Amino acid sequence: MSLKKEIVAKLTEILGEENVIVSEEALLAADAVNVRNYAKAFDYKPEHYPLAIAKVHDVQEVSSVLKYCNDNDIHVIPVAGGSSGEDQLLIPDDRTILIDGTPMNKVIKIDIENMMVTAQCGVSLAALEAQVNEAGYTLGHAPQSISLACMGGLVATRSIGQFSTMYGGIEDMVCGLEAVLPNGEIFRIKNAPRRAAGQDLRHLVIGHEGTLVFMTEVTVRLFTYYPDEMWKGGYVVENFKTGIKAIREIVAKGYKPAVARLYDKADVDHHYGSVKLNEGQAFMFFAAYGPKAITEAIGKGIDEVADQYGAGYIGTKAVDHWFENRNKTTDLLGSEEERRMFRETKVYTFPMEICATWSEIGTIYDDVIKTLPEKIPQIVMLGGHVSHCYSNGTNVYFVASIKVDNPDECIKIQYATLDALCQVILKYQDATIVHHHGIGRMRVNRIKEELGSSYPLLKAVKNTFDPKGIMNPGCLIPLD
Ligand SMILES: Cc1cc2nc3c(=O)[nH]c(=O)nc-3n(C[C@H](O)[C@H](O)[C@H](O)COP(=O)(O)OP(=O)(O)OC[C@H]3O[C@@H](n4cnc5c(N)ncnc54)[C@H](O)[C@@H]3O)c2cc1C
Repeated sequence: MSLKKEIVAKLTEILGEENVIVSEEALLAADAVNVRNYAKAFDYKPEHYPLAIAKVHDVQEVSSVLKYCNDNDIHVIPVAGGSSGEDQLLIPDDRTILIDGTPMNKVIKIDIENMMVTAQCGVSLAALEAQVNEAGYTLGHAPQSISLACMGGLVATRSIGQFSTMYGGIEDMVCGLEAVLPNGEIFRIKNAPRRAAGQDLRHLVIGHEGTLVFMTEVTVRLFTYYPDEMWKGGYVVENFKTGIKAIREIVAKGYKPAVARLYDKADVDHHYGSVKLNEGQAFMFFAAYGPKAITEAIGKGIDEVADQYGAGYIGTKAVDHWFENRNKTTDLLGSEEERRMFRETKVYTFPMEICATWSEIGTIYDDVIKTLPEKIPQIVMLGGHVSHCYSNGTNVYFVASIKVDNPDECIKIQYATLDALCQVILKYQDATIVHHHGIGRMRVNRIKEELGSSYPLLKAVKNTFDPKGIMNPGCLIPLD
């Protein structure tokens, strides 16, 4: 019997025929919804297909499938919403299956007293947010991919949402979880409000990109929902660096707007066009969330600091425009309209997000904007924005458009652009090559330099959890 037939027969025995997907169309579509969309507009065929997609419904099924794969050296990639963008779901070889957790889509418990909600890994973030909103609560997690991503993927990638300056990233939200080791053993990390029983084991799982375990259940925090009490304000600043200084001051003074964003002209013109900026100017805006007394006080504080930095107040229209359009890119993904656009323009746009301290981020921004077009001649647009701010620094989310006359080269140029970005970032002491999309396979060649002398720790964790190396090989950790 061929390897494929053998695997399909065993998976069918565990899961039932209807839960073992082998149709070519489904296997072709399995490498994420937003990676290789450009190539897919030009008759793309992947180098490797998964042998099958195993649809799991409960923790026991996950355990049985993993144990079988571990015993037989079959590679496994967990999948949730498929929206990750760094080739986390790229099939690395011809002995890989996908374990699809989306049938595990039950909200297990909404615990209002303790402000927590427990959901299975396949629960969609949009559906969960809508459900808790109805009860008067929010998860505080609003990534642009809210309509695509599911709880398992959001935790596994260390995702972050648009209201992060107030709520933080997923690592600030996860209370506890349940997961399965490659050998089939099930473990649980409980939901205590804080703990000091050694290291915090949640962090071994958060951000592991499917390389250690299959997460089956996660509990996250709830916050009171204040949909009508938002304070918003938009400003034009003289230049990007002045905007960075103003935002730093706002955060350093202790104001916590949910949204704090700063766009350069290239990014505004490319994305929203809602503000007309002169060359060099930047668009800065904020939204404060919470009880009215707090949002008004934050708004007043922001206004004062903005004034000190010579920022011109332009009202809320452009901010409203951002709120209305902020997730629209998601609707276009993988559509016939997107494919037609690619075929007509031969232009592909993608994001690259990094993070650094306040003292380095302005220099890094200039360095990236200057260096990347020098190294990658196919870049026709490069801009960036600040969107997640901390007391010690911020991210910049760069956006690049490349013109690709030969469609087969698109992914090569995207990888080369990301690598050029990593090389710039690695020159700086407290900067990181990735802020929230994960390492995947696109930045994996730079993970050793990124982690430096702490890289062996990551490798040791991998070897301990997954000694046979079956979990998402080549993602996050290089194959050598
Ligand atoms: C238009 C668009 C906008 C985006 N905006 C944001 C944003 O604002 N913020 C942000 O952080 N990201 C953003 N992303 C990236 C992406 O949405 C996130 O990485 C998201 O967390 C992925 O979740 P998913 O459910 O789609 O996971 P998938 O893509 O299915 O998987 C992601 C990773 O998690 C692993 N995984 C999935 N399920 C499990 C499980 N049950 N157990 C163990 N591992 C698992 C997979 O193996 C893979 O490595 C965006 C993507 C797109 C396309």
